[in-house]
Amino acid sequence: MPGRIRAGIDIGGTKVVAVLARERGEVLREVRLEDWTLGSWERDLAVLADAVSQLADDARVALTTIASVGVSVAGPLDPRTGVVLDPPNLLGWEDVPLREFLEERLGVPVRVENDADAGALAEWRFGAGRGAHNLVFLTMSTGVGGGLILEDRLYRGARFQAGEIGHMPVVPDGRPCACGLRGCLEAYTGGAALAARLREDVERGAAEGIRELAGEDLAAITPRIWVEAIRQGDPYALALRGEYVDHLSRGLAIVVMALDLERIVLGTIIQTNPDLFLAPLREQVRERVWASHRDVDVRAGELGPRLPAYAALCVAELEPPSS
Ligand SMILES: [Zn+2]
Repeated sequence: MPGRIRAGIDIGGTKVVAVLARERGEVLREVRLEDWTLGSWERDLAVLADAVSQLADDARVALTTIASVGVSVAGPLDPRTGVVLDPPNLLGWEDVPLREFLEERLGVPVRVENDADAGALAEWRFGAGRGAHNLVFLTMSTGVGGGLILEDRLYRGARFQAGEIGHMPVVPDGRPCACGLRGCLEAYTGGAALAARLREDVERGAAEGIRELAGEDLAAITPRIWVEAIRQGDPYALALRGEYVDHLSRGLAIVVMALDLERIVLGTIIQTNPDLFLAPLREQVRERVWASHRDVDVRAGELGPRLPAYAALCVAELEPPSS
């Protein structure tokens, strides 16, 4: 037998990736579903179960020979029970017994983890985290999700919410965060928060370079436009990058000092624009930690569009937490 077969499902608000693979990430079949949610978790989970069954059929693999199915989904969730509590981007999902439902439908053991932890596992095993024993992965996407690998294993914490670095307070009484707190790192470096900040600054006439790129449609203002403006040398965009790097490097320095990390892996906006962010981030993180910690390695994620599939497959290989 050339390695056991596992399935993975990465659940996003607008798209799903389902994958069937041998161990060591050799993908046999993969499918993407766009605009897949129907607003009812029962129907949504039936769609996911059908997708896995179809992949198995296409690969001529009996469902019963699949060793496990891993599901990566936005939390909060309980990885012991596989119940997803209240994901912000999935309509009609509340206290969803994801593991139980899929195990009944598919007859295969199912593991569930939050997407940031799953992403950390994937970059550690297959991407920019290879070879590290202690690392943090930050998604740097719409929100700032974080996952920790400590002493060669996923660290989940007392409430299974370890690694919420996006919600560390970096500015006293600072900008409001989507989580309800103020001054969180995510309120300064998350994609949604950055878009809101850009719109505010355009509206008060402080970001003409952004306005020129976006036109009159404020809704078209996204972090992508900010990145474009940085590349054009726009002074406002460059100043905002300075602020972004300042906040992010402070947050990262705290985590490096708290956990004695050797590596930091950053996704999405930094992964796609490493030339704009990595050098100043490295420099400022190193300035803010002890000399003994300055060898901390700040890297961009490597998996990019492959991240969801590998993340879900890594979850399939996890043992569920015992307590
Ligand atoms: Zn927050």
